[in-house]
Amino acid sequence: MELRSKNSPAAAQSRPVLPCAQCGKTLFAPEWSEYLDDRRVRHLWSCEACDYQFESLVCFPAWRSSRAA
Ligand SMILES: [Zn+2]
Repeated sequence: MELRSKNSPAAAQSRPVLPCAQCGKTLFAPEWSEYLDDRRVRHLWSCEACDYQFESLVCFPAWRSSRAA
């Protein structure tokens, strides 16, 4: 029984993956990302297959309760 998971690459699962809205090709990394604030990130995707570009907005849950804006 091994419960030691210090070296488990769990962070690799958190990268954004999205299918192309035009042709459905899986895009593994956004072309460009803009952090709107602490919880919202806007990704700009560019498809290599059909050259289609679109944006997606990712909203993270509030993992910190810091309201010191
Ligand atoms: Zn495409």
